[in-house]
Amino acid sequence: MRVLVTGGAGFIGSNLCKKLLAQDDEIEVRVIDDLSSGSLANLAELDVQFFNGSILDQEILSTAAHGVDAIVHLAALGSVPRSISRPIPSHEANATGTLQVLEAARANHSAHVVLASSSSVYGKNPTLPKVETLQCMPMSPYAVSKLATEQYALAYAECYDLPVLPFRFFNVFGPGQMAGHAYAAVIPVFLEAALTGRPLPVNGDGEQSRDFTYVGTVVDTIHAALTERITGGPTNLAFGTRTTLNELISMIEHHLGRPLDIVYRERRSGDVRHSQADNTLLRSTFPGIEPTSLDVGLSATIDWMTRQLPTIPAS
Ligand code: NAD
Repeated sequence: MRVLVTGGAGFIGSNLCKKLLAQDDEIEVRVIDDLSSGSLANLAELDVQFFNGSILDQEILSTAAHGVDAIVHLAALGSVPRSISRPIPSHEANATGTLQVLEAARANHSAHVVLASSSSVYGKNPTLPKVETLQCMPMSPYAVSKLATEQYALAYAECYDLPVLPFRFFNVFGPGQMAGHAYAAVIPVFLEAALTGRPLPVNGDGEQSRDFTYVGTVVDTIHAALTERITGGPTNLAFGTRTTLNELISMIEHHLGRPLDIVYRERRSGDVRHSQADNTLLRSTFPGIEPTSLDVGLSATIDWMTRQLPTIPAS
């Protein structure tokens, strides 16, 4: 099988490339990435064919997609706050970029397309857990662009019979996820602060909750979707756990065996209060996937982050 991973030099994409290459001798992996947030270092020593460019560049995208059996579309500008300060680049990369990827798949004998949407599409809808049939009430340009991602995919399935599967990722974490930039996710931010002796910055009161999903579980599920060529509507890729940030901090303290300093700051606009997936559809579509728990995943992530320490400036 020949697979193109868009955004393959990023956190989830590089973990996926490792998984695909480790799992399957016959697989050929290509990556297209403009390195806007990803890094070539994430692909070091991996036997992938790399295309350095944007999915918005039709020429390079169609070269990268030529002859592939499947596309895993992960390239995007992540982060709610980034989209609030600059909505147009988020729209272009995430919505228009998805349209370009779907066009490339359509031009390419209807390659199977697995796409990354986000739990942020549920937005203001207060119902918990989040079942896929709930009304989407996005609260940020990022969330709208992710809703466009999945809805364009469904439109291509309807109009052109393109085989698609949009996943709604929740809070994915694990080795390879970097802190140290303005739009970093909460687990790497907390771990980097804890390991370098800085206070852990909490936006709001820390009682907001998230359904954290280990990256190994995410890439196992994508791998299964590819090998079984699974198609369908938006599918939550999370397992229905709910952990507040204050609980997460207690778990990190337990792992490190010491109390941590915390600084509470103002709540961020666009952030949802609670997030928890209904996993019924995921479980029935992928009965063979057993998730790695937050505790086990956190331990692996702390080990990985500790190994990065020489490259992280101390406080
Ligand atoms: P990431 O930022 O590490 O990876 C995204 C990659 O896409 C980067 O390597 C970046 O350089 C690349 N990219 C951005 N714009 C591009 C463009 N125009 N052309 C080519 N490459 C481009 O993010 P991630 O955490 O690995 O997320 C992967 C996908 O999953 C994204 O679509 C994101 O929106 C989605 N998602 C992630 C989470 C999470 O918790 N990490 C949650 C929900 C959804």
